[in-house]
Amino acid sequence: MLPVFGHTNPDTDAVTSALVYARLLTRLGTEAQAYRLGELNFETPYVLREAGVEAPELLPDLPAGTAVALVDHNESAQSAANLTELTVTHVVDHHKLGDLTTAQPALLRFEPVGCTATILLAMHREAGLSIEPVDARLMLSAILSDTLHFRSPTTTPRDREAVAFLAPIAGVGDVEAYALAMFAAKSDLGDTPAETLLRMDYKVFPFGDASQPQRLQTWGLGVIETTNPGYVLGRQVELLEAMDHARAEGGLNGILLSVVDILREHNTTLVLSATEEKVLREAFGVETQQGRADLGNRISRKKQLVPLLEAYFAPQA
Ligand code: MN
Ligand code: MN
Repeated sequence: MLPVFGHTNPDTDAVTSALVYARLLTRLGTEAQAYRLGELNFETPYVLREAGVEAPELLPDLPAGTAVALVDHNESAQSAANLTELTVTHVVDHHKLGDLTTAQPALLRFEPVGCTATILLAMHREAGLSIEPVDARLMLSAILSDTLHFRSPTTTPRDREAVAFLAPIAGVGDVEAYALAMFAAKSDLGDTPAETLLRMDYKVFPFGDASQPQRLQTWGLGVIETTNPGYVLGRQVELLEAMDHARAEGGLNGILLSVVDILREHNTTLVLSATEEKVLREAFGVETQQGRADLGNRISRKKQLVPLLEAYFAPQA
């Protein structure tokens, strides 16, 4: 049974793509099972309930050498704790290539599209397989989630085509209404502790170059996508405390938390200290005021935050 899993602090794509890819692999003759690497956010349970699907189990500790399939990530810092000891046999992903290495030839499917599910749909069609309604619903949801219903600059024509293709199979007549319901579920944060809010969509990135270890940097980048940014920003003090704690605990050089207003396509980023303030000024050209920086329409961590930090921390030639 090949375990299939997405990244830690899973989002809807990480969970649903593990489910869909496990089923695809099984249909193609490799028995596979989906797992998750952490607690679900507030959107994914809504999606799973609408699809009539159970959440995958938490990934158990896997002995060294176990074959695994990754979806929606490839960097060890975002994966199973002992990923470097496991045998990665398959990866389906739409992120930049990180530190992945494999001991054996592996099936690697990377495409610069808005969502892993867009690639999985193509793989079904290439294999000549019909799309089950449940899988259609899961893939449709992942694409709407990752692209914020096409608002994100990561959106490609293929993501739009995939949604148009999947919606009738999934039985979703009004895609706009369904996307809004997903975003409402995601924004219904209640009295969730600040620590949990910070970790809900949080990734750790190494920047710089191992050949210049004194310049190596590790940053934590959290995002809270919401239709109710006022509520999240109202908890700024608590969130900054949680960020301070996470930075110390993770031995990080810096930490940022972006509050993304989904409907207005706007990013307000919480800034912990002078370290982050300096980097935001020099890498993004924005000033921090009262612990907040206005990053304007830079709503994609993958496309509009990480590359700038990558370039900023790149070793000098
Ligand atoms: Mn993801
Ligand atoms: Mn994704």
